[in-house]
Amino acid sequence: MTANVLPHSRTGRFAPSPSGPLHFGSLVAALGSALEARCRGGRWLLRIEDVDAPRVVPGASAAILATLERLGFEWDGEVMWQSRRAAAYAAALERLKAGGYVFPCACTRREMAEVPDSALARDGSRRYPGVCRDGLPPGRAARTWRVRAEGSIRFDDAIQGAQEEDLARDVGDYVIFRADGQFAYQLAVVVDDAAQGVTHVVRGADLLGSTGRQIQLQRLLGLRVPAYAHLPVATNAAGEKLSKQTLARALDDIAPARALTAALDFLGQTPPAGLADAEPAAIWQWAIAHWRLDRVPRRAHIPAPALE
Ligand code: GLU
Repeated sequence: MTANVLPHSRTGRFAPSPSGPLHFGSLVAALGSALEARCRGGRWLLRIEDVDAPRVVPGASAAILATLERLGFEWDGEVMWQSRRAAAYAAALERLKAGGYVFPCACTRREMAEVPDSALARDGSRRYPGVCRDGLPPGRAARTWRVRAEGSIRFDDAIQGAQEEDLARDVGDYVIFRADGQFAYQLAVVVDDAAQGVTHVVRGADLLGSTGRQIQLQRLLGLRVPAYAHLPVATNAAGEKLSKQTLARALDDIAPARALTAALDFLGQTPPAGLADAEPAAIWQWAIAHWRLDRVPRRAHIPAPALE
């Protein structure tokens, strides 16, 4: 057996979407996932989630890699690019079709909005009213493929605690192949986490409501279900998640040591005061030696610190 085929006890990953520059909220997810892998001698992988081509901002992927390097992140192996993975997603879709777990759907958004009394999903969006579930209406062509949302999914989140999602009630039949010919995030993330051998998913709590769908897909495709830990999401003064839309400040405008120590503090790790003036390498050394997931606040949202 050679070193590169030894099984790793733990593999984590950071999977940013290149829809804008990294901000403090992205740093929290990157740092939490990296430290949870590194403090146990595990691998930490990077994947650029550019599957949603219309939302990709030109230059954003290169800027994300440069920002991570500036902050002292070191990922293992090659970066995975979702834009190059269409064949793997297509193969997974074929397996789901063969199993009868998905159905073609002709409905447009406007048609769905017009169905009377259609209920709302947990996230407030309109739940799929089931029109094409038992076959396409005569004369209609498939626009999307949807997964039959069935069963109740339970999992223990290492930070947010016991979770339960009734897929039919809380989500509804969901799209994994879109009308514009793109594979949806829910399918891509599951196929890629398995392909990269990810054992521990550490990410923002804004994705807690996606996890039930991802576990369903892992089960349907016979893939390993990783352990999940959802970190608190950083919010602005208005209580909104930091994002390009809420005009979050780009990380490149903040001194690396300041950003790293503020993110450690946000994650409940109490870095010593002098560390904010140290080099990133010294901060990483301290963080890997002292990281404790059980110190992360068990909350879904926390206001971001003011960073000068
Ligand atoms: N690409 C997703 C995002 O930037 C993260 C996906 C994940 O970590 O599963 O929100």
